Amino acid sequence: MRYVSTRGASPSRSFGEVLVAGPAPDGGLYMPESWPQFSRVEIENFRGKKYGDVAFAVLQRFVGDSFSNDELKTDIAAAYATFDVPDVAPLRKLGSSYVLELFHGPTLAFKDIALQLLGRLFARELKKRGSRATIMVATSGDTGSAAIATFRGQANVDVVVLHPKGRVSDVQRLQMTTVRDANVHNIALEDSFDDAQNLVKALFADQAFAQAHHLAAVNSINFARIAAQCVYYFTASAQLNRAATFVVPTGNFGDVFAGEAASRMGLSIERLVIATNANDILSRALESGTYAAGRAQATLSPAMDIQVASNFERALFEASGRDGSRITEAMRGFAKSGKLDIRPDALAALRKRYAAGRADDNETLATMRSVHAESGILIDPHTAVAVAVARKVAKNAIGPVVILATAHPAKFPEAVMRATGRTPPLPPQLTGLLEREEQYDIVPNDLRALKTYITERIRPA
Ligand SMILES: *Cc1c(COP(=O)(O)O)cnc(C)c1O
Repeated sequence: MRYVSTRGASPSRSFGEVLVAGPAPDGGLYMPESWPQFSRVEIENFRGKKYGDVAFAVLQRFVGDSFSNDELKTDIAAAYATFDVPDVAPLRKLGSSYVLELFHGPTLAFKDIALQLLGRLFARELKKRGSRATIMVATSGDTGSAAIATFRGQANVDVVVLHPKGRVSDVQRLQMTTVRDANVHNIALEDSFDDAQNLVKALFADQAFAQAHHLAAVNSINFARIAAQCVYYFTASAQLNRAATFVVPTGNFGDVFAGEAASRMGLSIERLVIATNANDILSRALESGTYAAGRAQATLSPAMDIQVASNFERALFEASGRDGSRITEAMRGFAKSGKLDIRPDALAALRKRYAAGRADDNETLATMRSVHAESGILIDPHTAVAVAVARKVAKNAIGPVVILATAHPAKFPEAVMRATGRTPPLPPQLTGLLEREEQYDIVPNDLRALKTYITERIRPA
């Protein structure tokens, strides 16, 4: 399997190369040259299989000859052994819908599902190359801790995590800043997640710097994340044995795009519903055909406080007949004006696959409260956004409705308390967290300052 850029002007790469790289040199995102195909029978056979076995079947097609079957199996087994339930992503009933619990990993958000595996494959690839890497992570809250959990203490890897100062929950921040391994570097950036993401993008755009420091990205621009995340669309659908509507709390569009990936591989999905908070650029884009970024607002669901959803480029690439020059032109215009008019054919293709809806903070709180009152279950604010949107957008679904539960409620105790008057019990993953000492550096939103930080802190190759 080879990977090509959404902007069509970079040489193709192997899975291993894409895994340890950042964006493609032309600024695009890597995509498989063609989607692996699963027959109906193969998909039906996933029913009753263990999560790790389905993950192996799916990922083997993406990995190509970058890793042997044994290597992939070993890393899948080790990655999912860190989860606190054997079925990794359990599907539970909630009223007349279902909740797909994706928060059973070490840092209690769905990011662990991809990152626990990615960290292990990454280490293998570096070892094969005799190389090192500096992993740059811009986080809206959960990717940072999940990346730190998988890379802490690894030889030949440094992790630099930028979180927007004061815009993540206390638990989210502590999960990052109390990890004291020498290869972990936490930065609180004075500004929003979009600014952090832009700064990291600008860093990668300086190719001389990126090469000299072996910069790599494990945000959802890394295709390995998408590959690992499409697995739970298969396992959930297999359990239901029907085409489902998936409602996905969305920020950077990686998780919901993994649903598109699964469907392009042969899985029947009724619809993918993009659920956003007040930062609703994606639902507005789908409605109006104009993708226009504003300023990100802080909400109770901080992992979704994103205006520029990186992976939307992947969906646009597919919806535009994989025409790299069209994407280059569109993204260049967007970088200049902050606005992108989606061409009618692409918009029609997107609307066929996706629906969208938004829920603001009041609706989020009301939903957390009503779910608790009706079922006794505490949900986190991101999941609540999806439940609220499901109630509005998915009520006419033909098949089952599956809400992706992306974080454990204990990560957002203040919001849960405000909504329900209850404090979620602290799971073992967080024991002692509040007492540990924090360490992080405050860095201004400035490319030169970030470069100096990296040059001074991290040993060269
Ligand atoms: C990252 C995250 C999201 C958004 O996922 P994307 O792939 O960026 O769309 C939603 N909820 C939680 C809890 C997250 O950590």
